[in-house]
Amino acid sequence: MNKNVLDQAIDYLEYSKNLSGEYLFFETKPISAQLAADIPQLLTNQEVPTLPIKKEEIAETKTTAPPTVPHPSSLHYEESVDPTWKDSQTLPELKQKIQNCVRCPLGATRTKFVFGEGNPNADIMVIGEAPGADEDAQGMPFVGRAGQLLTKILESVGFSREDVFIGNINKYRPPANRRPTNEEVAACEPYLIKQIEIIKPKFILALGLTAADTLFKKSHKMGDIRGKLFSYNGIQTMVTYHPAALLRNPAWKKPVWEDVQLLRKLYDDYLSNNK
Ligand code: SF4
Repeated sequence: MNKNVLDQAIDYLEYSKNLSGEYLFFETKPISAQLAADIPQLLTNQEVPTLPIKKEEIAETKTTAPPTVPHPSSLHYEESVDPTWKDSQTLPELKQKIQNCVRCPLGATRTKFVFGEGNPNADIMVIGEAPGADEDAQGMPFVGRAGQLLTKILESVGFSREDVFIGNINKYRPPANRRPTNEEVAACEPYLIKQIEIIKPKFILALGLTAADTLFKKSHKMGDIRGKLFSYNGIQTMVTYHPAALLRNPAWKKPVWEDVQLLRKLYDDYLSNNK
């Protein structure tokens, strides 16, 4: 048997087990002609059933009632943000200057400002859509079940949360976990651009279409853009499914695995070329 194929199959089994708890999720379609031929052998010729999505995962992704906590400030945008925020040289300075922003309607309903966290000098920046309920409560990005899944996905290719910087397009949670409006995205995007300018990542991993469409100023279909490399202002950028989408559709875990494996390879190539 081809050793690379065997290694690939074992890696995928470990990844799938880590992401799915006690369950292994498999697509009904073959991974590839070669793997389709080899995997049954690896599994002692036993057919592996496709298991259903766990009930608790479905419950997790249901929309919840919008928060009723009013924004503590009645300031207008001009008063809520330090006018020198664009001159910020560091992430803490930027955070301090924009954390009371009420530039868009999300400023009226949020609980906590979710600036993003991780390595301020990260080579890889992970960008999602917006905080959810857990993130809104804790003020940290990707800490709910989708966030825990993201952590496992990163770890599957040898990255820790501390290695990368994790943020979102919008810094406040949209009520009822809805997608942010174009107005809300446009209002908040300058802060993301400033974060990218300060961090200077070599790679961006965009999670979901809101992140991808915002970065590239164009509507996409995920099937058309995932697994490919794009340039965002000279930064090598990959797009893959948002972890919350994987909770709804576990079959997308495999394409995400392929995407992060490619990112890992590109990053390793980058490191070896820049020793
Ligand atoms: S989501 Fe962004 S633009 Fe809107 S109020 Fe919050 S920080 Fe300001």
